[in-house]
Amino acid sequence: MNETLVDALTEAEAAAELARLAREITHHDKAYHTLDTPEISDAEYDALRRRNAAIEARFPALIRADSPSNRIGGAPESGFAKLRHRVPMLSLDNAFDAAEFVEFCARAKRFLGRTEPLTFVAEPKIDGLSISLTYEHGHFVRGATRGDGTEGEDVTTNLRTMKSLPQRLSGPAPALIEIRGEVFITKADFLALNQAQALAGSKVFANPRNAAAGSLRQLDVSVTAGRPLSLFAYAQGESTEPVANTHWDYLLRLRDWGFEVNPLSRRLGNEADAEAFQNEMALARSGLGYDIDGVVYKIDDLGLQRRLGFVGRAPRWAIAWKFPAEQATTVLREIRIQVGRTGALTPVAELEPVNVGGVLVARATLHNEDEIARKDVRVGDTVVLQRAGDVIPQIVSVVTERRPAHSVPFVFPDTCPACGSHAVRPPGEVVRRCTGGLTCPAQRVERLIHFVSRPAFDIDGLGEKTIQEFYNEGWLHGPADLFRLPQREAEIATREGWGRVSARNLSRAITARRTVPLDRFIFALGIRRIGESNAKLLARHYGSFANWRTQMLAATTVGSDERLELGSITGIGPTIAEELADFFAERRNVDTLDELAAELTIQDAVAAEAADSPIAGKTVVFTGTLETMTRPEAKARAEALGAKVTDSVSKKTDIVVVGADAGSKARKATELGVRTMTEAEWRDLVA
Ligand SMILES: [Zn+2]
Repeated sequence: MNETLVDALTEAEAAAELARLAREITHHDKAYHTLDTPEISDAEYDALRRRNAAIEARFPALIRADSPSNRIGGAPESGFAKLRHRVPMLSLDNAFDAAEFVEFCARAKRFLGRTEPLTFVAEPKIDGLSISLTYEHGHFVRGATRGDGTEGEDVTTNLRTMKSLPQRLSGPAPALIEIRGEVFITKADFLALNQAQALAGSKVFANPRNAAAGSLRQLDVSVTAGRPLSLFAYAQGESTEPVANTHWDYLLRLRDWGFEVNPLSRRLGNEADAEAFQNEMALARSGLGYDIDGVVYKIDDLGLQRRLGFVGRAPRWAIAWKFPAEQATTVLREIRIQVGRTGALTPVAELEPVNVGGVLVARATLHNEDEIARKDVRVGDTVVLQRAGDVIPQIVSVVTERRPAHSVPFVFPDTCPACGSHAVRPPGEVVRRCTGGLTCPAQRVERLIHFVSRPAFDIDGLGEKTIQEFYNEGWLHGPADLFRLPQREAEIATREGWGRVSARNLSRAITARRTVPLDRFIFALGIRRIGESNAKLLARHYGSFANWRTQMLAATTVGSDERLELGSITGIGPTIAEELADFFAERRNVDTLDELAAELTIQDAVAAEAADSPIAGKTVVFTGTLETMTRPEAKARAEALGAKVTDSVSKKTDIVVVGADAGSKARKATELGVRTMTEAEWRDLVA
């Protein structure tokens, strides 16, 4: 990155940069802690934090109230109850080389006014999820994630499913003790889990740490129970009585109580031993069963720990000495666009294979279109690759001096490489998506599974596994093929796991669904943002399949009356209108739709008590403040009587109900000659 050296920054530049860093770090904290989907490597993240700290050190007057230096990670969000830690869970300062470690030791000694060497406990730093476990009278009662350090998420139920977590401490224990540790997934378990996830079409995790966090923070506890989570205990929070005088003895107590403690942890007689241990672990790292990203060194004497205390968010008595990121340089041969099962286009860099930290790497993620533009990555470039605990390597930067002459910036395709359909990127989103959902081979299986699901066509006996099986046979190219499966009944009956009865039942279930209500049909198409309720709105508004189809085709023209009408349906709006227009603008989708419709009887949407009401089929707009009813109430009543309620007035509007302080809509109605009425007149009409 082309960053100005901190020493060269003017005060104004520094202030702007601190604002940017606060924003960026907050964003990445959220991606990492709350969403479990980091966008940058740990090393890049550390670099942001270090730059922020360096600028703050030079311009202390500019330190912001929301400075990232005062925060740890992301605050808990949604789903889980919050749990306050009795003693805060802090994070550690980092050292990146021997000089920084030596400086850490010197600081501690100066603080203590001491010259003799310090005894340390060294513990490999596991890349997992920190948790706090509360035991009362030896029984596990509560467990929480670290969260923002003060307050985490209550994951007690999930933790109880872990075999490596003692439900009861063996031997005498304090009345109350908080024990801290790391939940993690081994490399082997991680690979197996990702394989299973990919097979099931579920989310694949970027690295073992995210897999551990994602597995523990499951609202469905049975999912957590099925995940291979491990635990190492290594620290304490609150305790009603002291349990040891040194950290080393505390680790021994943990082991006696039944916890797993990392067997590689070691007590070091003085700080000089740390460098040897660091090198030893750096060599051992690739052969370990789990990921580590450094070593934590803690001053062993708990009395000294108490005296040293904390500064900001970190203790003065411990430091995490991180391994350098594993980097290598290689040539980028090609940028290939992968199409995910949901239609997302993801760029992948194909590389001259190169060894990065003991692993042969031939491919790296480029995340998205913006990332390529930001780093100006081009085909033929020499790039710096990095693995930093992450299993998926990242491209850090381009070595521009080695860029071939005549190289051109990469142009992200606007068609899907799998099917040729338009690939669109809605404003404000980072991902470009293929619009050919129904025909795109990359998305077909996913779409078919959605198509037969309960709220859609609800076809009994056609689950995910069967769809995949028939798809592999080459029987299912699109949804219309589902309705041709009964022609293969005899063949299906002879398949493994099938028989005459089950094949017959499947044929019947499929045939029974040849008649389908319009709203289910629309929902089944799997158009982005068209869930069940939007499908109902569309069905009710357009009434019949033929009408909907005609109107949607016309709505593909931006600025057409049909497009405006679509966007003004309450609950739809311009963004969803655009998704629908994108879908219908793709010829292949319309062909597939027609092929499908030819197999079906699509029932018109009928409004409940509508038939003989005075406003059935009328388009109504409410404007201004209503005095005897709320807007939603008025709308619900109108719809129940078969009217369509829209938000804007056009020549297709039949009635405008004008409340108090009505503005431009009332004027427009008069201009267009649309019938207007007062709230009282309206009430009389629908009474
Ligand atoms: Zn496609």
